[in-house]
Order: sequence, then structure tokens, then C-alpha cells
Amino acid sequence: MYLSKLFIPITKDLPAEAKIKSHQLMLRTGMIKQSSAGIYSWLPLGFKVMKKIEQIVREEQNYIGAQEMLMPTIQSSEIWKESGRYDDYGEEMLRIKDRQGREMLYGPTNEELITDVFRSSVKSYKSLPQLLYHIQWKFRDEVRPRFGVMRCKEFYMKDAYSFDISDEEAKKSYNKMFYSYLKTFSRLGLKAIPMAADTGPIGGDLSHEFVILAETGESQIYADKNIFEINLNQFPLNDSSLQKMREEFTKIYAVTDEKYKKDEFNKNVKKENQMITKGIEVGHIFYFSDKYSKPMNCLIDDKNGKKTSVKMGSYGIGVSRLVGAIIEANYNNDVMKWPKSISPFDVVIIPSINKNNKENLVKAEKIYLELKKQNIDVLLDDVDENMSNKFKKHDLIGTPYQIIIGSKSEGNNFEFKELNSNSEILSLDKIKIKLKVK
Ligand code: ATP
Ligand code: MG
Repeated sequence: MYLSKLFIPITKDLPAEAKIKSHQLMLRTGMIKQSSAGIYSWLPLGFKVMKKIEQIVREEQNYIGAQEMLMPTIQSSEIWKESGRYDDYGEEMLRIKDRQGREMLYGPTNEELITDVFRSSVKSYKSLPQLLYHIQWKFRDEVRPRFGVMRCKEFYMKDAYSFDISDEEAKKSYNKMFYSYLKTFSRLGLKAIPMAADTGPIGGDLSHEFVILAETGESQIYADKNIFEINLNQFPLNDSSLQKMREEFTKIYAVTDEKYKKDEFNKNVKKENQMITKGIEVGHIFYFSDKYSKPMNCLIDDKNGKKTSVKMGSYGIGVSRLVGAIIEANYNNDVMKWPKSISPFDVVIIPSINKNNKENLVKAEKIYLELKKQNIDVLLDDVDENMSNKFKKHDLIGTPYQIIIGSKSEGNNFEFKELNSNSEILSLDKIKIKLKVK
């Protein structure tokens, strides 16, 4: 892509409500445009990043055996009346009527809908366990939408649902998701902490929020630094190892302010390992047993032919929130560096150009074509502008690698720079190796 052609409508005058870095940066680099309070259009740059995040989430869901499907955004109120949540959900639910006057709603979540899908087809324990997920827009009429894509009314979520015959079996599904979440966040370059969360009237210990560290987060965190020392790769994907993995993680102290007690924190965590900071919730997993299957009459025959309510859990990741959260975690001193796995571009070529000298641009175009042939997603800054402005712009866009074609490049050697480190002069072949192309 040529920068001059990229649809990147930069917002120069930031609105007063853009208080945090990610919101400002996403507006300044034209990743999103607000359409109304808490509702955004995703423009090419932002959409690209979100799609890359979505793909990593998808791969890690598929890896643990979850199956992708797609449920609609608009739901009928009937199933919500069955579960009893139609009245309970309150004002966050956007309620609408169709032309026949039927009560509909824009789904804030999908427990009811998936239970309805499931009960109509699965009747026997033999078909269990099942893990189903979709990645779909949600709508919640939040009282105070803020922080750009972090807390919106319309947002993009991966939500998965597990179905098991017993609490014992359901734990195994829960552990798989626990593992999948940690792997997903680590591929996104994030350090996520699983935090014990409230289970409400259901009780038990099977609810965790996954929180990443960021000063601008809404959650207050109290944790033991040792949580970052556990190596996820030591746990193969089998039930007993995943149970051990969850125990390893959950025996280390990590709570949000809801559960925080000062003396417990001091008793469990050595002074030098205490971490008190803010965080952003990027995922939430929750085992709720027969909370929906019971009122909705979602019954399964067990081994003895006895009917029992299927045991369910739900597992959410805020895909659109993650775009903002990743910026919060990586933005430093006016420089943004995307993790390679989700960067909008793999590399940017920055030639020094002006009206009288197009030589560098010609060289840049040659490299551009060569890298494109190798399937590298490359951005070429062909805008006639001074180098210092160009660098400022690319510090914001955050492409992790730069090939700079200016006074330091000679013949087939070019200045190559990984953001936030020193540049080196390399041949194109060496640059390709750095970019992991053959
Ligand atoms: P929160 O406490 O932040 O309101 P929640 O408990 O309501 O979150 P869930 O229903 O568990 O969230 O949703 C799963 C994930 O969806 C959350 O972990 C979060 O990443 C994301 N999410 C929830 N609400 C929003 C929102 N209003 N805007 C953007 N993402 C959201
Ligand atoms: Mg909420």
C-alpha cells in the first residue's frame, strides 16, 4: 500500500473526551471514527488490526477443539423471558419491535440463544462435551461509554459456550478455555493475569477475569509478580495437565478490588513481589452450571437414561476492546510499536524524496515490489514531506520495522530499523532475513 493512497483520515483536533492514549492515537491515525456516542466505524487501518486479532483468537479457539458458528445480532425476547433475564437485564439491553409488534432485542450476550440452538438438537450425553463459539457484534447501552473502543455500546466479542454432562466434566472444558485465553493473549504480545472473579449465587471457584496491566485500566489489581514466571508451554493439551496448569496459576495471589483484603495480600505475597496497579479486563470466563439450561428446559439423557440439565459455561473475549488495550500496553513516549503478530503493516519503506530528487523513490518502489512478491505487507511512504515529519508519523502508525532510503543508504545497502532500537545498514538480502522472508 502507498501511504498517499491509504484512507487514513487523521483527526487533528482531538475531542475533549479522548482522555487516554489509545483513544487519542486511534483518532489521530484514522483507525476509527465515532458515529454516535459509543458507536464507531472501523476504518481500514483499525479494521486491519482488529481482523488480525480476531484471527489469532479464532486459531486458539480452534486449537482446543471449539467450533466456530455464527448467531444473529437480533434476538427474540421469547427466550429471554424463558431464562428470566428479559426483565433483569435492565436498561443496558436495546429493545426493539418489528413491524408485527414482536419484541426483539439486539443481543448483549448469547447464553439464551445458544441454549435454544443446543436444546433443539442434542439429546444425549454421547454428543458431549461440546464447545461452540462465534465472533459477533454485541450491543449494550452502557450508561457511560468512554475511552474510545474500550467501553462502547456496540462492540465486537468472541463468545464461546461449553456443554457438559456433569460439573466434573465441565471443569475440563473450563480448563481448556483458561489455557486458550492465556495462549491467545501471549500471542498478542500481552501479559494477562487470570484473576479470581465473583461467581454470584452459583458459587464455586470457576470464574476468572483476564486482565492486562495498564495505568489507564478500570480495574484495580493486587497480585504477586510470580504469576508472570509460569511457562505455559510446559503444559501439554490433556485434561490432567490442564488441571495442573490452572492450579499453578490460581494458587498465586491475584485479585481485583472486589476481592481484595489487605491482610490476606500481605500474608500471601512477599513485600518485594507485591504488585498494586491498574488493569484492563480483556476476557472473562465463567462456569454457571444449569443457570440457563434449567429454566430453559435444556435436558440431556445421562448414561442411565435419566434426564438432566446440561451444564454450561460461557467465555468472552473483547476483540474490539483489545485493539485499544494493546495500544495502552505498548504506547510509550509518543511512539507506538505494534506486536508483529497484529501490526497493520509488516514493514514501512521511507524514502527521502523531494521534487528534484526522485531517485530514492524509484529505489523504494523496487524494494516494495520485491517484498510484496514475498507476501510481506509493506507500506511505502511516497508522500513528499520532510523526513522528520515522516518519522513522527510512523512513530504513531507503529509499523515495527522501517527501511529508510536516504543519505545513509548506498547502492544495495539500506538503513534498517526496528522501532525503539538503533538502525543498521544492511543489504536487501539481510533485511529479508530480518523480516523472515526466504
Ligand atoms: P465490564 O466489567 O468491563 O463491563 P463485562 O463483565 O460486562 O465487562 P463480559 O460480559 O464478561 O464483560 O464480556 C466479555 C468481554 O467483552 C469483556 O471481558 C470485555 O473485554 C468485553 N466488553 C464487555 N463490555 C464491553 C464494552 N462495553 N465495550 C467493549 N468491550 C466490552
Ligand atoms: Mg459490563
